[in-house]
Amino acid sequence: FGIVGCETKANNDQPIYKNPAVAVKDRVADLMSRMTLEEKVAQMAQYVGPEHMKQAEKDLSPEELHNNDALGFYPGLHHTDIEQMAAEGKVGSFLHVISGDEANYLQELAQKSRLSIPLLIGIDAIHGNGLNYGATIYPTPIGLASTWDESLSYRMGVETAREMRATGSHWAFTPNIDIARDARWGRVGETFGEDPYLVGNMGVEMIKGFQQDDFTGNEKVIACAKHLIGGGEPMNGTNASPLDLSMRSIREVHLPPYRRAVQEADVFSIMTAHNEVNGIPCHNSKEFMTDIVRNEYGFNGFYVSDWMDIERIHSLHHQTETMDEAFRQSVNNGMDMHMHGPKFTESIVEAVNSGIVSQERVDEACSKILEVKFRLGLFENPFVDLKKAEKVVFNQEHQATALEVARKSIVLLKNDGILPLKKNAHKKIFLTGPNANNETILGDWHWLQPADRIITVKEGLESVAKEKGFALDYYNSGEVIGKTTDKAIKEAAARAAKSDLAVVVIGENSLRYKWSEKTCGENTDRAHINLPGRQLELVKAIQKTGTPVIAVLVNGRPIGEEWLEGNMSGILETWEPGSFGGQAITEILFGDVNPSAKLPVTVPRTAGQIKLYYNHKPSHYFHKYKFTNKNPLYAFGYGLSYTKFKTTNVAVDKASIKGNGTFTVSCDVENIGKVEGEEIVQVYIRDDYSSVTRPVKELKAYAKVALKAGEKKSISFELTTQDLAFFDQSMDWIVEKGTFTIMVGSSSRDKDLSKVALEVSETKKLDLN
Ligand code: BGC
Repeated sequence: FGIVGCETKANNDQPIYKNPAVAVKDRVADLMSRMTLEEKVAQMAQYVGPEHMKQAEKDLSPEELHNNDALGFYPGLHHTDIEQMAAEGKVGSFLHVISGDEANYLQELAQKSRLSIPLLIGIDAIHGNGLNYGATIYPTPIGLASTWDESLSYRMGVETAREMRATGSHWAFTPNIDIARDARWGRVGETFGEDPYLVGNMGVEMIKGFQQDDFTGNEKVIACAKHLIGGGEPMNGTNASPLDLSMRSIREVHLPPYRRAVQEADVFSIMTAHNEVNGIPCHNSKEFMTDIVRNEYGFNGFYVSDWMDIERIHSLHHQTETMDEAFRQSVNNGMDMHMHGPKFTESIVEAVNSGIVSQERVDEACSKILEVKFRLGLFENPFVDLKKAEKVVFNQEHQATALEVARKSIVLLKNDGILPLKKNAHKKIFLTGPNANNETILGDWHWLQPADRIITVKEGLESVAKEKGFALDYYNSGEVIGKTTDKAIKEAAARAAKSDLAVVVIGENSLRYKWSEKTCGENTDRAHINLPGRQLELVKAIQKTGTPVIAVLVNGRPIGEEWLEGNMSGILETWEPGSFGGQAITEILFGDVNPSAKLPVTVPRTAGQIKLYYNHKPSHYFHKYKFTNKNPLYAFGYGLSYTKFKTTNVAVDKASIKGNGTFTVSCDVENIGKVEGEEIVQVYIRDDYSSVTRPVKELKAYAKVALKAGEKKSISFELTTQDLAFFDQSMDWIVEKGTFTIMVGSSSRDKDLSKVALEVSETKKLDLN
């Protein structure tokens, strides 16, 4: 590289950009002035960490390696080439660096480059920094969302950021704020569910936890809101299939969490979605990247592409005739960083030299990326102290949070009265099922973890057996798919018959390092949403013995299995509850913890009901299905407790308001049962008559209320006319004159809600910003 730009020096003879006392924007400007075009474009390039490549090089044949599009390994590209590029300043960022050691090694290489620009290291720390060995693994996002407690999302962000920084990563590829509207999609568990408001709340707080007010210092990271946009409503349930949807729905359902991530949490990066939207691949969408999110919402950070997706504008979508055009159009349309793969930098450099991509566009992208590196303090110290990391990773505080989130994330779906289990009531408990004693409780987005940092259900039950007065009989009956034999089913039934109670831990498997056994997770979509493999046969054989059965579901996507609801004594939806899942499940089974979680997503009875979500249009159920009940198996917002709550005196403080006003909804909530518990009171609205059809209900507020047995509290919710607004026929954001129904209660089901009316006396156009 030739040196261009000025040779500005600070007083102490150091270049300005190396002086931490200088303002970040001046340091960026100084450094930019010293960089060649090639060096600037290099900042826009990200590669996967060499350890990850080595692993694949070891595990896969050269043919598998180079022909596997999903892995992103390219013929002739070896991990040593990438290391060499880092030392030459040809890479700005890495993803999936799996240890502090590796991070230090790569940063050392980067220090050898001409300007010694440190690397920005990103990782999928989706629910804890699980791709690193020994990390605290929290419940997956769908479990977190089931708590309806966004302060836990904030704490998970803070703690995950600490573990990341301690091991050399600076950038979390999360939160996933996709709206999950299709249970067939394997990534539902990575999301906060189907409701734009709840998803927005969880996402905003997680971003704040990661970044805090300003991500300077060495305990914070930048967050990445993903995936812009619409991946949670794939056409056929398969990951990355097209979205063909009105802009009204996109603006009202899918975009609001992005607007909030930008405007309320100042998220510093956004990842675009694998899929196309209405004919335009998201990676090439000027409309979403630049017009809406950057210009209209005011996004101030940078865009990163998703794995191989710029290439796919050409190779999959056939939108451009060449790969070069794909790279260049994407950058021109707003893309700032390319995730993994060769040829991008050469192509962009050539495009700038020939005037196809402007120098300003490259400067804009490069300066944002450099700004992050300065603000994170990487120019001062890009290395991590491995000794210190041992004290941070999986520390007591993080373990306590992981356990607390797990306790609050488990949804009690059914209870015929058997739960909570009483001390000495069941002398012998039989435990079986594919997820009873392994790491499936950790969910997707972790890599092999030490067994002594996981509490399985078997271990959880074992630890209390003496105290609770029962003997545990555990039998390994096989896997989610594959190894369950007739003999195993027979044996399980025989042992259940000799027990007083059976607990079956069933569901799915999201382990990305067990590719052939996975039934859920990224790129693992299903056409059916029932229990995979022979699990139902197993449960039926056990139930037939007459021993009462409790089903403990461990799964990333909703499981639609009506038979369980009809035949189990109790059902717990535990999602994928993380490192302490087995402990939390045990505590809930025995009532040491009273379940308080509610579903953040609808559970259909069968895949044929999809798309099924609570905030549907009035005509969604104009006609019924022949043979199948039209209602979901479990509704959004549903979840039981060991006590009972009653919501009364639902009121609104005014009968009528103007187009631009506020109103207060209030109610009393009472614990009418015998034990203390927490109720999640939900507020929905409906526009009764409107110029554009509106959903039958939309969640607008909720509160989690802790109540002792017999206790009653009054609660209120402040709402504004913005909560009543929609996009009219001209796509203006308006609140429309007329009556609205306000519904308050314990779930989205009509029978759980009390109604009051509110009138809006004038139509008013609102300002989105
Ligand atoms: C996923 C992203 C993820 C990226 C890097 C992609 O396949 O869609 O969510 O951040 O891989 O691992």
